[in-house]
Amino acid sequence: VDDGIQVNSGNFDGLPNTEAINKITIHLEFKGLGTKIVTYRLRDWLISRQRYWGAPIPIIYCEKCGTVPAPESQLPVILPEAVEFKPHGMSPLAEVDSFINTICPKCSGTARREIDTMDTFVDSSWYFLRYLSPKDDHHPFVTKKVNTWLPVDQYIGGVEHAILHLLYSRFITKVLCDLGLVNFKEPFRHLFTQGMIIKEGAKMSKSRGNVVSPDILIDKHGADTQRLYILFIGPPQKDAEWNDRGVLGASRFLSRLWQKITDYEDVYARIQRVDIVMNKLSPAAKTLYRQMNQTVKKVTEDMETSWHFNTAIASVMELLNHVDAFHVVIPTNVVEELDFHVFRYTMETILLLMAPFTPHICEELWEIMGHKPSIFQQPWPAYDKDAILEEVIEIVVQINSKVKSRLSVPVDVSEEELKRRVLSDERIAGFLQGKQVMNTIIVPGKLVNIVIK
Ligand SMILES: [Zn+2]
Repeated sequence: VDDGIQVNSGNFDGLPNTEAINKITIHLEFKGLGTKIVTYRLRDWLISRQRYWGAPIPIIYCEKCGTVPAPESQLPVILPEAVEFKPHGMSPLAEVDSFINTICPKCSGTARREIDTMDTFVDSSWYFLRYLSPKDDHHPFVTKKVNTWLPVDQYIGGVEHAILHLLYSRFITKVLCDLGLVNFKEPFRHLFTQGMIIKEGAKMSKSRGNVVSPDILIDKHGADTQRLYILFIGPPQKDAEWNDRGVLGASRFLSRLWQKITDYEDVYARIQRVDIVMNKLSPAAKTLYRQMNQTVKKVTEDMETSWHFNTAIASVMELLNHVDAFHVVIPTNVVEELDFHVFRYTMETILLLMAPFTPHICEELWEIMGHKPSIFQQPWPAYDKDAILEEVIEIVVQINSKVKSRLSVPVDVSEEELKRRVLSDERIAGFLQGKQVMNTIIVPGKLVNIVIK
């Protein structure tokens, strides 16, 4: 039955049914005849399968005693290994006499085992409990460990699991909780469902022949490039279109990073490490230091709160552009040493930020920069809150050498950006209306003088 308009429904006649559902519910609640509740679409779950791969159902059939559960001392029932898998229209276990024929636990007479096995969804409903004590021969899981480590903080899986596996897991967990075997009602705190990589408009599949083999790309560009490209391709919760050229972009970025750090391979060891104090830095170093701290903040937030790995990587790429714009000199005096230290510190931070994405190259470069042990034993970089704030200065805006306005702008604003801000200032725009701008004179850090006719 499709959606439609209510008929024969008294006061609710003529309403769309979707609207009427709410109104009727409220009406019934008001009259004290019922309440609104959520019900799950958990259908009856037939768990037996005519398959070999699955946990045997521990039931024994005796002619005298009927259906008898295998006693606990005989659990788990183990699958036989000598099995013929040729199809006969029956479970492979149906032909294994040594498995089927057994003794009735009640009367010790001859009996037969159940030959169906359990749906593998039964196992996947609680495997996360078993992961904490996989070698324990006596218990399916250890309550104390399970209560310490679970529920799972972050679960990752395809959206196809939303209706079966995830619902079964919750259902089983709730039962175990009611039995006092675990102390939580929900098995997973957060779920993340990842998108798919699409090629030529379609899901990659062998039959379509549009599969990109990671092995070939890894041979050609290395595993880091491959990882970087996949993480950069788009938000991980969305589907993304594969593009061979994108792989080259990732490769180029890593080459630039490699070059930038190895260019000064011999310098790092002889430059002193000092605490960075903002007001002792040259203007260019101050700007780079601020951009670095802003990047740490951005990447940290992208990683922790939204899993936007693509924008996190984009921020690091932007920071490397800023490093390119920063004129690195091999130091010959104290001021230059401090500048170099800021450059070094920035490159180290880039490595720390990139290490989760491109672990191999970052580990190698970390060592080249003179560090031991592994970069993976380093803490995630923190950012300097004060350094993030843009230093602001006041610029005087003149028209024909007369002061008309004042603007607050970042201390390192580019001339182009400064011009843009001046021209979009409401007061200034008013003065310029209908006039012709002959010249714009900029005194950096002080004033802008617009000459008009
Ligand atoms: Zn019996």
